[in-house]
Amino acid sequence: MMKHGVVLGASIGGLLAARVLTEFCDRVTVVERDVLPGIGANRRGVPQGRHGHALLPRGAQILEELFPGVLADLVAGGVPVVTDLAQVRFVVGGRLFSQRGEVAGDYAYVPSRPYLEGQVRARLRALPEIEIRERCEAVGLAVSEGRDAVTGVRVVPHGEAETTLPADLVVDATGRSGRGAEAWLPSLGYEPAPVERLTVDLKYVSQWLRFPPGVSWPELLVLVGAVPDRPTGFATFEQEGGRRLLSGFGFGEHAPPSDLPGLLEFIRTLAPPELCAVIRAATPLGEPATQRYSGSLRRRYEWLRRFPRGLLVFGDAICSFNPTYGQGMTVAALEAVALRDCLAQGVDGLARRFFRAAARPVGLAWTIAYGQDLKLTGRAGEVPLSARAVNVFADRMLAAAQWDPVVAAQFMRVNGFLEPPARLLRPAILARALAANLRRR
Ligand SMILES: Cc1cc2nc3c(=O)[nH]c(=O)nc-3n(C[C@H](O)[C@H](O)[C@H](O)COP(=O)(O)OP(=O)(O)OC[C@H]3O[C@@H](n4cnc5c(N)ncnc54)[C@H](O)[C@@H]3O)c2cc1C
Repeated sequence: MMKHGVVLGASIGGLLAARVLTEFCDRVTVVERDVLPGIGANRRGVPQGRHGHALLPRGAQILEELFPGVLADLVAGGVPVVTDLAQVRFVVGGRLFSQRGEVAGDYAYVPSRPYLEGQVRARLRALPEIEIRERCEAVGLAVSEGRDAVTGVRVVPHGEAETTLPADLVVDATGRSGRGAEAWLPSLGYEPAPVERLTVDLKYVSQWLRFPPGVSWPELLVLVGAVPDRPTGFATFEQEGGRRLLSGFGFGEHAPPSDLPGLLEFIRTLAPPELCAVIRAATPLGEPATQRYSGSLRRRYEWLRRFPRGLLVFGDAICSFNPTYGQGMTVAALEAVALRDCLAQGVDGLARRFFRAAARPVGLAWTIAYGQDLKLTGRAGEVPLSARAVNVFADRMLAAAQWDPVVAAQFMRVNGFLEPPARLLRPAILARALAANLRRR
């Protein structure tokens, strides 16, 4: 058992890592720069909170394992759950998914991001080992004399002088900016992790809405994804509090306008006319929120030969994905499982073991998105051979998922990280996919 663990960042990644550390440390301190608001309110350090966040089924399962009862609380709070394909309208790769079929007990949840984070934070805060220090900025690491181990974090609590929090283990979950461990390691004599980037130049514009009494839309979640000859898309989510979130997104010059009339016009080209009419009847709540996402970014910590003891990097600080695939929180949850498994084997070689274990879910999510993103950003010629094969296969499966609810449900399980992609290669699924593709012809 370690005496003290410190987690930097109290967003979803940091909260999950801190929960795991409570099993291995007497005390865990979470250091967060922001003022932490009540459940459901946005905050500065998580600007993406104003945009839709789907919690994929495997992410939901892990959340429940770490915080038993949290999913029931989300539902009691009005968070929609996708239990049936009829509740969602997915147009992916230009094809409408079959709306027949059950999702077999493992559900995706569609909370607003601040509501989810607030619920998880409240549960974490209630644990006796946990202290959350808000308005406290991490500014660097304290290291041993030989600089081979991190011994704590240098922090500046709001309005006070810098101080050092001693720690047996520090987990950097400060997000993708690279102003945490990545920035601090070189001054301690360590190489920064090699970085892979995939520029996508994506813009999101989102607006909260309330439907007038008697007006509703039956599908909890509608998603029309981008396709190479139309690199735009939109989503609308039913959310807790009887609200709807409407988001438009587009790549490069195809970005949606930032004002509401422009956003509605943008969505008119993508949504069924009946849905557009319902959206137009709704009352906007507040102003539209805009966010630009320059590209996916992966730091290959697992490739480093030297890394100090007592330090790990977690969540978006390792890898941040094109948000349209909804993967980030679920990958952070899978990293939490990896962290727990690695810590259960002790702290010898912890960083090497953890970064390798985390690279598995990160790599899977990266592969799912990579070839697709190159196509969507007009670089189909750069798609590597391996990703091309994945793209062709996924395209055939998506074609079949239009007609066959079993193929559609299997696709959802793979996409929801419940099962490995190899499950799509089972003879029974391949036969159904083939039959559906032939019937379609
Ligand atoms: C537009 C958009 C939509 C998305 N949609 C989805 C989705 O549908 N589904 C999904 O699973 N994921 C989605 N994501 C990704 C998801 O938001 C992240 O993967 C998730 O928040 C986990 O990130 P994190 O906790 O590692 O980092 P972050 O969420 O970036 O949090 C970092 C935290 O560290 C704090 N911090 C930073 N620096 C310091 C410091 N020096 N000292 C103290 N504190 C510090 C920040 O204030 C913040 O609280 C989306 C992302 C975007 C941008």
